[in-house]
Parts: sequence; C-alpha cells; structure tokens
Amino acid sequence: MINSNHLENLLNEMTIDEKIGQLLQVTVPFLTGASSEGQVTGPMEEMGLHHHSIRQVGSVLGSVGAKEVKQIQQNYLKESRLAIPLLFMSDVIHGYRTVFPVPLAMGCSWDVDLVKKSAEIAAKEASVSGLHVTFSPMVDLVRDPRWGRVVESTGEDPYLNQLYAKAFVEGYQGEDLQKNPETLAACVKHFAGYGAPEGGRDYNTVDMSDWMQQEYYFPAYRTAIEAGAALVMTSFNIINGIPASANQKLLRDTLRKDWGFEGTVISDWGAVKELIPHGVASDEKDAAKKAITAGVDIEMMSTAYLNSLKDLVIEGVIDEKLIDEAVLRILELKKHLGLFENPFRGANEQKEKELLLSATHREIAKQLAIKSSVLLKNERKTLPLDKSQQIALIGPYAESQDLMGPWSLAGKQKDVVSLAQGMRNISPGMNVNIAKGCNINEPIENGVQEAFDVANTADVIVLALGESEEMSGEAGSRTELTLPNVQLELLQKIKSCGKPIVVVLFNGRPLDLREVEEVADAILEAWFPGTEGGSALADLLFGSANPSGKLTMSFPHSVGQVPIYYNYFQTGRPKEQLPDEDRFASKYLDAPNEPLYCFGYGLSYTTYSYSDLKLSSNTLSINNKLDIEVNVKNTGQTPGEEIVQLYVRDLVGEVVRPVKELKDFKRVHLDPGEEKEISFQLSEEQLRYHHTDLKKQSDTGDFEIYVGSNSSDTLSMSFQLEKNEGGAYENN
Ligand code: BGC
Repeated sequence: MINSNHLENLLNEMTIDEKIGQLLQVTVPFLTGASSEGQVTGPMEEMGLHHHSIRQVGSVLGSVGAKEVKQIQQNYLKESRLAIPLLFMSDVIHGYRTVFPVPLAMGCSWDVDLVKKSAEIAAKEASVSGLHVTFSPMVDLVRDPRWGRVVESTGEDPYLNQLYAKAFVEGYQGEDLQKNPETLAACVKHFAGYGAPEGGRDYNTVDMSDWMQQEYYFPAYRTAIEAGAALVMTSFNIINGIPASANQKLLRDTLRKDWGFEGTVISDWGAVKELIPHGVASDEKDAAKKAITAGVDIEMMSTAYLNSLKDLVIEGVIDEKLIDEAVLRILELKKHLGLFENPFRGANEQKEKELLLSATHREIAKQLAIKSSVLLKNERKTLPLDKSQQIALIGPYAESQDLMGPWSLAGKQKDVVSLAQGMRNISPGMNVNIAKGCNINEPIENGVQEAFDVANTADVIVLALGESEEMSGEAGSRTELTLPNVQLELLQKIKSCGKPIVVVLFNGRPLDLREVEEVADAILEAWFPGTEGGSALADLLFGSANPSGKLTMSFPHSVGQVPIYYNYFQTGRPKEQLPDEDRFASKYLDAPNEPLYCFGYGLSYTTYSYSDLKLSSNTLSINNKLDIEVNVKNTGQTPGEEIVQLYVRDLVGEVVRPVKELKDFKRVHLDPGEEKEISFQLSEEQLRYHHTDLKKQSDTGDFEIYVGSNSSDTLSMSFQLEKNEGGAYENN
C-alpha cells in the first residue's frame, strides 16, 4: 500500500515540469489527439498545448468507456517516467447511462434516500466505465429562475439543499473510496455563490454580504465537505470584487482554514485564464500567479499554469512550495482512489454490460421521476385519465425522446421512454391520436391545424409542452420565462376545441405559467424526467401512481418578481398588514407579491386535511426539545404520499429573520380515510443562525411554528425560547 511518505518521496523525485503537468486537466481528444503522431487538433493548439506537455497531464476530462480509459491509461503510463496514473473526471450529474430526473426535479421529490440511491447508481455505472471523479453535486443555492443553471440545483432552501448535498456526496463516494472501486470521488461546485449572478445572467458578477454567504449560500458547500467530498470546484463568477478562482479569502481562509478542507481544488473550465478578461490579471502569467496563490490546485482546460508556473518559480515570484502543496493534494487523491495499486480501478467492460441501464437502475429512475413530478393544477378531477377515453396527445414533447435534460453526457436518447411510448406500454389498445403541432421554438407547416383536427375528435387533450434542453443549463439564461410563443399559440388554438386540457411540462426552471394556468384544466410539471420519463408520466397520468412531488423553487407570477423565494424578509410596510388601498405598502402596481406557485406546493389525486397541531410545551430551552404533533388525514379516495412540512419563524431576531424557514419534513403514506399523527422534534440548536458577529446563536423570545402541505398553507402555534444564564445561546 502506498502511504503518505511514498507520496512525499515521489514528489521529491519529480521535476518541476512533471509537477506542473499534474496541475493540468485536458479533455480526452486533447490527450489522445496529441498521441496520434504528435498531431494536435482543434483548439488545443490555440491553448498552446504541445505534444511534450501532454505526457505530463495529471487528469483528463470526459467519459469514453472502460475499454478506452484502460487503453489511454496504459499508453500514458508507458510514457510516464514515474508511472503516475491519470485521473479521469466527468460531469455525472443526474445519472450516467441510466439518466435520472434533473437535479431540480430530484429536489422536488423530497426523498433524500432515493436521491442518494440515484447517486450510488450513477457512481456504479460511471466507475465501471472508467471514471474516478464526478463534477457533482452542484449545491449552489438558487433564487432566480432566469439563470439557466437552476436546473442543476435542488432549489432555494438552504436546509433542504444541505440534505441533498450530503446525500449526493455519500451516494457517490460510498463508505470507502479506496476499498470500493465502484464509487466516484465527488467534486462539490461551484464555489462560491455561482447561483446568484446579477440579473440571472450566467457567469455574471455576484456581490453579497459575508452574512448572506454564511447564512444562505455557504451551508450546502460546507455540508458537502463535511460529508467527505474529495474535491471543490471554484466558480466562474466574481464574488465581492474578486473572481472565485483568484479569491484567497474564499479558498484559503474560508475553505481551508475555517472549514478544514484538505482535498483538491479545481478551477472551472478555463476559469484561470478568465482572470484576464475579469480584469484582475494582466496576462496568462499573472493569472497563473493569482490562481496558484489563491489555492487553485488543478487548472481545467486552460494553460496558464503550464506556460507560466516554471518561470514564476525561476524568477522567484512564487515559491515552489505552492506547487508542491497542490501536487501533493492531487497525488493524495490518486492514492485515496487506489490508483497507484490499480490504475484501472473500477473500469470493467463486462460490468459495464451488466450494470449500465440494468432493469434495477431503470426502475429506480422511474420511481424518482414519479416522485419528482409536481401536479400544479387539477380542476374537475381532469386527472387521472381514464383508459377508455379517446385521448389526443399533442405537442413537441408528445413523442420526443429528448427528455434527459442538460448534463446527460453518457445517456442515449434511443434508451429514453417517450410519453407516447409510456402510454402505449401501459395499455397497447388505448385510443391515443398523436399530433406534434409545432416544434419547440418553430412552427410546422399545417402543424397547428392538424393538431386542432386531432384534438377535435378526442374526449381529453394531453398537451406535452416545454423548453428545449438548451434553453436551460449552462449559458441558458432567459429574460422571459414563458413557454415559446409557438407553443402558446398552439395552446390557444387547442383551447378553442372546448375539451378538457392536461398540460404536461418538460423544462428546467420555474416558468411564468400564467397563460397555461388560464387555459389548462390540469398541469403536471414533469421537468426533464430522464430515461424512464415516459413510463413514470404514463403511470401518473392514468393514476397507477399518485403525484406527490412538491416545488423546491417558487414559480413566479411574472418575471418582474424575480428573485422570488419563500424565506424572504418582511419589509417595514408589509402589504398584508396595511389597508388595501395603502399607496405606500411594499407591493407592485401591476402584479401580486406572491408567486404563482409557492415553495413546497404540489397537489395529489387525493386530498389531505391537517388538524390538531399540538406542542408539548409553550416554552423551549437548551435542556428540552419541543415535540410537535399534527394529524394528517387522507380525505379522498386514492392512496397517496404527502410531504408534511415544518416551518419556523423567529419573531424578533438580532438580525432580521425570514417569514418562514423550513426546519423539517416527512414524506408520509396515507390510505384513503387513514389519519396519522405526525410528529417532529425541535431543538434550540435548530433555531440558531448567524448573528452580526457571524457566530451561530439563537434568540430568546417568541417564535411561531407552522405545519402544513406547502409554505403558504399551514396551521400555526406559538412558543417561547427561554433565556439561559448568558441571555442568548451561543454556538462555536
Ligand atoms: C461547468 C462545470 C462543469 C465543467 C466541466 C463547466 O463549463 O461550469 O459545471 O463541471 O464545465 O465540464
């Protein structure tokens, strides 16, 4: 077994070029392209990469399958003087070959164990295909749906995001990365604050107080690190004036010193070189100096380190120690993954055949897609559909297999079950007529008329609408959040048939659904549901499964409201507490303050009633916990799962406290007529938050508890947090 002494010795044997090589990450074509007769193709030349340097690359970005990974590793090791194996990294974000729903959808499942299971499966499939590291989880808190990457987050709530961050890391990494080669090292990203770009425009500046970072934006990164995430990726954005990849305060003080992170820090794609256009580095050399000094170990896909670090050391501008520290961390990671003992690690063609897209994996993908879908509207019990009805299935997503969403690199469209196929699988003899109507963004000749004719002969119309994959995800920012106009025109035309309309939505962000809401009798938010999307949706539409997902990101009424989130601070002029006609209330003149669908919202085919909220005491202290009980009853005809949510409000804080904060929740199964007493426990510790001195403390005094089925429909009770001797309670 290689130990840390060996690594030190190895480091001592390395030339400075070999060390710098470890700090470079390039994509597979760059690496292999170079090895074919020394010919470098594509943008690699532009990056200044030449054949000699390629022999000293530390890691590779991309997934190519077990056979090729082994081949590349073998060739590389033959040429590598010290036989230091390559690391293979890629974006395994929501599944590998079996694609799960996008992370925002997974968030809406509120099923942390199932999400963990999906990460375990993703790691299994990816590691037998030769990967070692995944650039996941993305734990950036999101409040602005104009930003396309909200699709990669689990939502707007810091508590829920922490639970998911931990679940992803533990799912990918398993109990022991070294002992179990069917795992992946997790790289938490994007550090930090990437989810709060100004105006929702991707890569844009972030300016945020230390308090806001500590209280809302940092906790999920920190939780991922505490759960053992092996790597951290820096973000593209400027944060408080300094780009994250040159930000010493962020990387050296917060990450290393305060949080004790000892793993590897990697830049985002080209982010080191981007320090030049950001305007904090005069040239590549300056960028290299800034990034290595700030604590970026690996430079992804730019060559500032490769071209400049050696000169910087020779000229005495930086200490070689900085490079040594970075290299050692990378070697440690390779050791941790067991690569020195077995450079092929989990890569195994036979297992690839057995595991990728296995029936068990597909089944979990289906379950997660069922739990991630959110029923937003269901008037007159339009859903579930009846198999004997004549159904018109219309829209660009009716037969589309493009249901995987952004970052499904190893997924294949041909494996995806479309909505039409899902319906046929359920009931081959079903009366379904299909018409596309229009493309996602463009009309089809006679498309609308044909769709109208099909709709006219039906009892009920299922309209499958949405955004294309490219409309969300990286660089997918939008200023309008409605469906594309062609689809709205289709919707209006179909409405004129006067038949019940069910809209099924495929998209990667909260949308402005006012027009859809007006027309549709039922709306099912399916997100990008992944490989088994069509099967899951068919089960939901025909009632073999009951929708249970709840939104983890508010759907704005209109785009002018964003950023909009449930845990906001109340103004000094709350509209609800002032007379309606008060001109100076905090409000919009042309829109409500409230979102169209709030955080935690989601319907079911059954109904639930909440009653008898009880607290074990009306005081809480450091010595006791508060028992909270509530009765939840299934008052309808269908078995279902309800997500019972517990919120708290601290009425008078040292710092202003949000109107509601999620503290706990339970996913509960209830048969028709069944009533269960659901209990939670609340402790003083859960009431702590960052005070102005950035220490976590609670405030004594009055609190409000809310329990209910979403963040606005709740029962409530009050309690008091009692003083201890020192007044407020103090933590760390
Ligand atoms: C994205 C990262 C991703 C990286 C590697 C970047 O453009 O911002 O999230 O991990 O590419 O693919």
